[in-house]
Amino acid sequence: MANDPRPLVAGNWKMNGLRGSISELEAIIADAQARPWPVDLMICPPATLVCAFAKAAAGAKIAIGAQDCHAEVSGAFTGDISAEMLKDAGASAVIVGHSERRTYHGETDDMVKAKAKAANRAGLTAIVCIGETYEEREAGATISRIERQLAGSLPETIDAVKLVIAYEPVWAIGTGLTPTPKDVEQVHQTIRKHLVSLDKSSGPTVRILYGGSVKPSNAKELMAVPNVNGALVGGASLTAKDFLGIAAAY
Ligand code: PGA
Repeated sequence: MANDPRPLVAGNWKMNGLRGSISELEAIIADAQARPWPVDLMICPPATLVCAFAKAAAGAKIAIGAQDCHAEVSGAFTGDISAEMLKDAGASAVIVGHSERRTYHGETDDMVKAKAKAANRAGLTAIVCIGETYEEREAGATISRIERQLAGSLPETIDAVKLVIAYEPVWAIGTGLTPTPKDVEQVHQTIRKHLVSLDKSSGPTVRILYGGSVKPSNAKELMAVPNVNGALVGGASLTAKDFLGIAAAY
């Protein structure tokens, strides 16, 4: 629709990619230079590649994001990386609260909120992930779960430049399964209502991405759903061909 925010297609590479994988980024950059995409593009490589990817993407029409950050600026947190460090490495965004972080690292809504605020403090866009498990969906608890995560994971002040929401049903991640467009619409509408209730002026323009088994063959159908303003793509973002095939849904 005319007033919809500009869509964003973001690739979450997870724990994949070595220095040689920059060839995939270069292929995306070459394509993004060759034609005007009606969509913003972003790749979130593992932290080891953020600096090199940001250098390669400088001046190109693609942003580089990271996959997680610590809530503190610096200190005795062995192995952790702060939002300020990611910013310094060239990232412009960071994913927080991905279901794999919530599941394997015990991240709670409170922790996700602290990370989202840290991202904003450092000048990064926070891509806050939420989504229900298979059991919650089966129990008819999807909407209440989403509302709880929204209430617990978002910063108090929201801003359409600094915040992106990614709705990723846990059972759809990496499984090849996707919710029906109707189910996606219902959740995205719930998210939009929550955002508008937080901020009447920014709420309508914060981008809400759908994630979970998005691929070139289903992107068009999913991206056409009202209030779906792009995609967070895992497996299919690892090759330039599939990533661009998804962006081509626009
Ligand atoms: P998938 O992952 O596209 O491989 O399902 C999405 C995600 O986890 O962000």
